[in-house]
Amino acid sequence: MQTTNVTCVICPKGCNIEVDHENRDGKEVVLAVRNNKCPRGYKYASAEVVNPERVLTSTVRLEGGTYPRLSVKSEYPVPKTSLFDCMREIRTVSVTSPVKMGDIIIENVAGTGVNIVATHNG
Ligand code: SF4
Repeated sequence: MQTTNVTCVICPKGCNIEVDHENRDGKEVVLAVRNNKCPRGYKYASAEVVNPERVLTSTVRLEGGTYPRLSVKSEYPVPKTSLFDCMREIRTVSVTSPVKMGDIIIENVAGTGVNIVATHNG
């Protein structure tokens, strides 16, 4: 068994949560969670140990816009293990103005099932 400390970032209290976990047949299994002041922390800390995810923010080339780059982000968090593959795909993309905030720039980035969307008009 292993214990991992996770700082919860769901709210400003920033609880320092302890998660007991172990690897069973190549899969991380949560055994116990302590020091979370609410259920959201339990869910967040468990996910951080089993399958950590992040919202990805970046930019893509923009042709014909006011600025040469367009800000983008993932619609939902993607697994941390996929971040490099997502960035590799994002680097290859170029879009042409006009683009509206919320437009899908890449569908199903790196096979994650998550879209990359524009965060600004461009
Ligand atoms: S466990 Fe609950 S109270 Fe503590 S930081 Fe996370 S969301 Fe906030």
